Amino acid sequence: MNAIRPIDRLDTAPRFSEHDAVRLNRMFRGSDTQEMLAALFADDLIDDMAVVSSFGAESAVLLHLLAEVDPALPVMFLDTGKHFPETLAYRDELVERLGLTNLQILHPELAELEAKDETGLRWSYDPDGCCEIRKVKPLAKAMAPFDASFTGRKAFQSKTRANLPRFELDTSDAAGRLKINPLIDWDASRIEGYFIQHDLPRHPLVAAGYPSIGCSPCTSRVAPGEDPRSGRWSGWDKVECGIHQPGADDDGADQPYF
Ligand code: SF4
Repeated sequence: MNAIRPIDRLDTAPRFSEHDAVRLNRMFRGSDTQEMLAALFADDLIDDMAVVSSFGAESAVLLHLLAEVDPALPVMFLDTGKHFPETLAYRDELVERLGLTNLQILHPELAELEAKDETGLRWSYDPDGCCEIRKVKPLAKAMAPFDASFTGRKAFQSKTRANLPRFELDTSDAAGRLKINPLIDWDASRIEGYFIQHDLPRHPLVAAGYPSIGCSPCTSRVAPGEDPRSGRWSGWDKVECGIHQPGADDDGADQPYF
């Protein structure tokens, strides 16, 4: 199998092109998730990879799959300062249980918080600005040395994720990183089956009516049968935190990154 190597680059040149993402999607068409992950790591197809996890309702599945192939993979967690305490406890439980050895906790810049969110209430009048300070910027800084990131996005989660490919070009900046969505074609019953098969612990808030869990001020309960992500930024015209942008086409390597 031919390796997908970052383009030999000057400092400012992109690592990958849309063509690389398309090539990877073609390469793994018909492969199941575990085969694809095993090949990515065993064949060293992409050099420096990391997973970005919210340690939310379904995060255990992707983290378990990745721990099986490389427990030392960097696991990025954005500690926005606004998480439910249950999420922080669940993060530590999962890291221990799965044997993940490279958890990296990312924090917003203190100076940015003091200048732009001194009261800690920016989420209530400018959620995009709050996500920018607490998620987008810290992640961009942490991802600078990496070539690709894994996400846990799934097509069934919302119509804005319905047509995402497994591999896409991260267009959040000019670096030309890849985003890898191993679970994009998994449905709710397959996720549930994986939890049961591997006896994975559940986020404690799922049983309380939260099928998608982010920061506490921006997460609400969801009624049975509703879009699982409708409880995120409920009441706002906002569906993603800015790490991921909505609306990618299926072939579309025109996507950025949660
Ligand atoms: S999800 Fe809400 S609290 Fe968290 S960073 Fe975004 S706006 Fe702020």
